[in-house]
Amino acid sequence: MGMITVRRGAKRWHRVYREIRLVAMALKSPRHPVFAHVVVTRRCNLACTYCNEFDDFSKPVPTKEMLLRIDRLAALGTTAITLTGGETLLHPELEEIIRRIRHHGMLVVMVTNGYLLSVDRIRKLNRAGLDRMQISIDNVLPDKVSKKSLKVLDQKLRWLAEYAEFQVHIHSVVGAGTDRPRDALVIARRAIELGLGSSAGIVHDETGRIQPLSAESQKVIDEIERLSKPLFSFARHNPWRRNLLRGLPNEWHCPAGGRHLYICENGLVHYCMAQRGYPAIPLAQYTQEDIERESKTPKLCAPYCTIFCVHRVALLDTLRENPKQALVQLFPAQDGDGHEARPPFPVRVLTAAFAPSHAANGGHFFRKAASRLLNLD
Ligand code: SF4
Ligand code: SF4
Repeated sequence: MGMITVRRGAKRWHRVYREIRLVAMALKSPRHPVFAHVVVTRRCNLACTYCNEFDDFSKPVPTKEMLLRIDRLAALGTTAITLTGGETLLHPELEEIIRRIRHHGMLVVMVTNGYLLSVDRIRKLNRAGLDRMQISIDNVLPDKVSKKSLKVLDQKLRWLAEYAEFQVHIHSVVGAGTDRPRDALVIARRAIELGLGSSAGIVHDETGRIQPLSAESQKVIDEIERLSKPLFSFARHNPWRRNLLRGLPNEWHCPAGGRHLYICENGLVHYCMAQRGYPAIPLAQYTQEDIERESKTPKLCAPYCTIFCVHRVALLDTLRENPKQALVQLFPAQDGDGHEARPPFPVRVLTAAFAPSHAANGGHFFRKAASRLLNLD
């Protein structure tokens, strides 16, 4: 067994431990941000025609300023940070930012279009302690809409498969707006063949709404979901997505601004990338009161919201407050036979240990033992 395999295995188990800890902390307390998306530069080296997240001139956020923002997020109790852009690899000191996030014990994810990856850069990201990289690939061959193409990126994926010690996740998009839904399947199969993670997203229209899928697109999504079989897949069980795919709204409370933050290049806090401009308070002045107020503020955009990472946090909050309702929402009885929902074992264990209603019901000892194991006290 090569050294890289050993290091990869050790890092994977350490990451799983820290992910379980993140979920346990979110179940234990509603008072801290669970996820924050932080922009490191607005500039991008590509120009996908559907994207409004980039420009071609901005300078990277100065590293000193980025480190202050990371320190502030840590002080607010944030448990995971996703570095985003523009194109994150255009930041010349990205590795220093990643190191600072890990120094605070937070999980660190980065989103990239992959164009600037080299073996040397992958090794630097390994050393910095990156936990996860997400690459979106839009098509098999470049076209006028997007150059994020399997043909162009395949060599980068091979390097990642060979050298990356972090988790790599390839995201492809299926939907009414793409002419070739089967491209997503080709991309997902290549990712699995290389031992990388894969998932399928659904394209939105210009208002951010998911369009009902054609029969062919739906078939592609089902096939991609069958390709990877994790113990639990939020994408597969996501009740919000189930409704949106059928064109139905969701009734839920969005905790963005509290449990999820989006920090733009100017250091302002926004609800999410789709709702920039609210509350637009500088992170340096963001307080516990802001977190609690914004968590509770109703969001008019919630019924058709497609920001799945915020759904995930909302679900953790429902699990804490009303575990039974959350589990039934996630795992409805398949055939309407009225049987109890049967969630996977890890979901039941964490809920039993950390949801207060369970803890009050005799789970106190179990909660204490799990807290000690996860170093939560
Ligand atoms: S690569 Fe990403 S950030 Fe850059 S233009 Fe395309 S979608 Fe936007
Ligand atoms: S409902 Fe969705 S789009 Fe609206 S603020 Fe929350 S996460 Fe953003």
